[in-house]
Amino acid sequence: MELGLRGKRALVCAASKGLGRGCAEALAAAGVELVVNARGAEALQAAAAEIAARHGVRVVPVAADITDPEGRAAVLAAAGAVDILVTNAGGPPPGLWSDWTREDFIRALDANMLTPIALMQALLPGMIARGWGRVVNITSQAVKSPIPQLGLSNTARTGLTGFVAGTARQVAPHGVTINNLLPGIHATDRADTLDSAVALAEGISLEEARARRAATIPARRYGTAEEFGAACAFLCSVHAGFIVGQNISLDGGAFCATM
Ligand code: NAP
Repeated sequence: MELGLRGKRALVCAASKGLGRGCAEALAAAGVELVVNARGAEALQAAAAEIAARHGVRVVPVAADITDPEGRAAVLAAAGAVDILVTNAGGPPPGLWSDWTREDFIRALDANMLTPIALMQALLPGMIARGWGRVVNITSQAVKSPIPQLGLSNTARTGLTGFVAGTARQVAPHGVTINNLLPGIHATDRADTLDSAVALAEGISLEEARARRAATIPARRYGTAEEFGAACAFLCSVHAGFIVGQNISLDGGAFCATM
């Protein structure tokens, strides 16, 4: 399907690996020029060069912590007037509800709620002025079905979801859509880290830990960054202008509900 995005410009945050990388690849394949971001300069530059070579589009890497105001300012300066924004950052650490301090909450809110909100506040006015724009926030299945040990993530991402629910309706009259993609378990470094911890704690192999988790998913497998990126590119496409303020689960059926 032709997505109608050739020549558009996108900022994809936290995109040297994993789900952000999947989104960057899919947008580049649709002919979108990219600004991509991650903290590690080496992996980011390699990713940018690979994406540019594979898809024949311009890809500008900006190595910075997107959750830090100075880093974000550098990324936004390079991005300029983009048509598409994909927000993403690493998730907060696991823990126990009784142990988290105010500072832990502030860090999580900064990273996974206030950072995407600040990016939207910076870029939505230009999209509105030009009469077209797309925002996709990478959140988590945890906003629909909390993961108890990831309480910081549950809290921050649910706050972002509330902001998007209202704001998406305010910008929609201007041809701008905001939607959230909710990943379930995907085969990325993050999933490897979680599975390695389980393998260590239970004295089983990494393969066994993965197989046990995959067995809990109706699709009986993890999602891929390619599948995730394709969904993101479709939400950014000219065909998705009537999809407004939605929370779309990509979880192999893990969230069990009729609607
Ligand atoms: P990943 O494979 O670990 O990749 C994370 C990417 O983000 C890397 O490119 C990393 O590069 C970059 N990054 C992390 N923190 C950053 C920051 N502060 N500023 C700029 N770049 C940053 O993770 P993933 O699996 O793609 O996960 C992406 C998001 O989806 C996370 O918030 C995660 O919690 C959420 N999620 C993932 C899953 C899953 O199963 N994979 C499920 C639910 C939710 P650097 O480290 O070099 O910065």
